[in-house]
Amino acid sequence: MFEFTLEASSSAARSGRLALPHGTIETPCFMPVGTQGTVRALSPNDLRTAGASLVLANTYHLHVRPGEDVVAQLGGLHRFMGWDRPLLTDSGGFQVFSLAGFRRVSDEGVEFQSHLDGARRFLTPERATEIQWTLGADVAMAFDHVVPGVADETTARDALERTLRWLERCVERHRELLESWKVGKSDPFQPSNLPTFPQTLWPILQGGAHQALREEGLRRILEMGSWSGLAIGGLSVGEPKPAMYEMLAALEPRLPPALPRYLMGVGFPVDLVAAVERGMDLFDCVAPTRNGRNGTAFTPDGPVNIRNAAYREDARPLDETCDCEACTTFSRGYLRHLFQAEELLGLRLLSLHNVRYLIRLAGEMRAAIRDGSFARWADAWRRRYLQPELA
Ligand SMILES: [Zn+2]
Repeated sequence: MFEFTLEASSSAARSGRLALPHGTIETPCFMPVGTQGTVRALSPNDLRTAGASLVLANTYHLHVRPGEDVVAQLGGLHRFMGWDRPLLTDSGGFQVFSLAGFRRVSDEGVEFQSHLDGARRFLTPERATEIQWTLGADVAMAFDHVVPGVADETTARDALERTLRWLERCVERHRELLESWKVGKSDPFQPSNLPTFPQTLWPILQGGAHQALREEGLRRILEMGSWSGLAIGGLSVGEPKPAMYEMLAALEPRLPPALPRYLMGVGFPVDLVAAVERGMDLFDCVAPTRNGRNGTAFTPDGPVNIRNAAYREDARPLDETCDCEACTTFSRGYLRHLFQAEELLGLRLLSLHNVRYLIRLAGEMRAAIRDGSFARWADAWRRRYLQPELA
């Protein structure tokens, strides 16, 4: 379990398979984001049809509503949200630091204000680990201190050191939970005996836009123990795009090949291709569903805004290469009409299409890596995708 098998590589780009308790996923892999235990506007059946193999859920959101105890009473997160394939939960760190409102960071943890009712809450590395254990994801993430991409070196150093200290505490708590699970004992803190399968914990590398900090952080994480995966966090949070690409290229040779690499929060098509080129394996982003609800669809010829008047009488499908329900059933003219009339079906169809688009994109990259044509494929893909924007 949790074994990553590298299948093929084409310079830095790789394809592989990761065995998780609820199934094996193939990489590169895009995971749709189910913030509140649902990928907005899509049912689990929609996600399965779209080819999703791994879904991300948000620890912070599920903790403040409905609360992990409710999820546990209703059978754990898989059963609660009707998703029988692998799940990954983030630690809540990113939400605590990105949502507006009061927060106070200490070495103990973070005191913050719930975005729902304004109540003061306290999250520690131990609590974040316990909540994720109770939710029962296949992969849990360590609790981290995220700083903006433009943070200066002192701020980024401070957050990195705290993240590393917190990682040790997450590991310790996770080890205790796993040990008590192995001997069939329910840990006293929790009302149920969830999860019913092992869970793995992945560290998150921070360090802002400072390469030396990132390299040091990586070295110290790898010295801390043996992992089944590694996440790179705190990129794509306000720093310029080239800075992210440079950081990934600099880190890649230092990453152990045997570990799957999860680049957090990245998922626009151009970034996905650039990150795979730089050796990344797993991605998550709200872009496909958020953009879909705004009427923007990803297509091989670049983004299309379906509200555009030009599509009023357009009989063509949204994306003629796509096999999703939106593209195989409806015209651009009809989809535009749904958005003009503010019909819910429009939001669902474009969300579905965008998720399917990114999953197909990951699949195309996997195929190109396997047959050794990835560099050529990426050039051709970029020429076609970016060309309309240049026109
Ligand atoms: Zn489609």
